[in-house]
Amino acid sequence: MTENKSVKSAFCIRCLKDTNFVLQSDGKWQCPNCNSYLEGELLNKVVFISARFKSHGSSEIDGERLTSELRVEVQQLNSDGYEIVSLTPVTSGFRDFKYETGAYGYSYGYGYSFTEGIIIVARKV
Ligand SMILES: [Zn+2]
Repeated sequence: MTENKSVKSAFCIRCLKDTNFVLQSDGKWQCPNCNSYLEGELLNKVVFISARFKSHGSSEIDGERLTSELRVEVQQLNSDGYEIVSLTPVTSGFRDFKYETGAYGYSYGYGYSFTEGIIIVARKV
């Protein structure tokens, strides 16, 4: 008997990443990572709004741009019949350090974090 596994690529709202859902014998699509079913996927929508820096080389996020992109997306979701369930900021970090010994030894270290974007979870109403 050969196993004929059908897979469907979709966004898993539990794992928060694109996943290859596997078709089960009962006709349901199951996430191989968290074992949740795709059923609810039809009622929920997850959108990622990417934040951008104010300018090249800048470490400051363009908040106005992020806000307007968020507003457009939320309006679109609402007009499609979705209600926003949650907004989650995604934060990234950066760090660096150096340590030199000897007669002219020195060291430095720094780190910072920034909002990389916002995950919108919406539900069909
Ligand atoms: Zn999953």
